[in-house]
Amino acid sequence: MADGEWHGNYLLPGTADDPEAALAAVADAAQETVTECLSRAWPVCAAHGLGMHPRDADGHLSWWCAGGRRGGGSAHVVAAVGVLDSVAGRG
Ligand SMILES: [Zn+2]
Repeated sequence: MADGEWHGNYLLPGTADDPEAALAAVADAAQETVTECLSRAWPVCAAHGLGMHPRDADGHLSWWCAGGRRGGGSAHVVAAVGVLDSVAGRG
C-alpha cells in the first residue's frame, strides 16, 4: 500500500517452482490488501453482490461465488484469476 504496509503471506522459497501455488498466494494477498483498503469485500460478484474466493476450477485458479443460496441461484465460477478485468460488471 502507499504507506508501505501490506497484507497477505510471503511467498515461500520454491514457490516459483509451482506457478499455480504462486498465483494462489498472489491472489490471496491481493484480495486481502484490496479488501483492507476498501474496507469491504473484493472482488464482488456482480450477479449476487457477494465477495468471491479463489478456487481451483478445472485446473485453473478462478474467482468463485457462493451464489444466492438464500434467494436462489447457485455457486458459480465468474472468471479465471487474472482476467476478472475483462468480465462485465467487475468487482
Ligand atoms: Zn455470483
